[in-house]
Amino acid sequence: MATRGLSSRVLALGDECLLCRAEVVPIVYGFPADDAFEQVAAGRIVLGGCAMNPLAPDFACPTKGCPGA
Ligand SMILES: [Zn+2]
Repeated sequence: MATRGLSSRVLALGDECLLCRAEVVPIVYGFPADDAFEQVAAGRIVLGGCAMNPLAPDFACPTKGCPGA
C-alpha cells in the first residue's frame, strides 16, 4: 500500500486540485494578517503555519478535508 507520487507535483497558480478539481490557492506562511481568516473562510488562501521549510509548496487545495489539501 505505498502512497507516493500523487501529491509530489508542485502546484502553481491556475492549477486545479488533482482530486476535487478546485482551483488551488496560495499558501500564506508565517503570522497571518488581519484579514487572513476571512480570506481562508472565503477559500481564497490556505494558512501554512510558521514552518519555514524550503521545500514547502506555494499553492494548495482550499477544500476542507480534501486529501489533496
Ligand atoms: Zn482538493
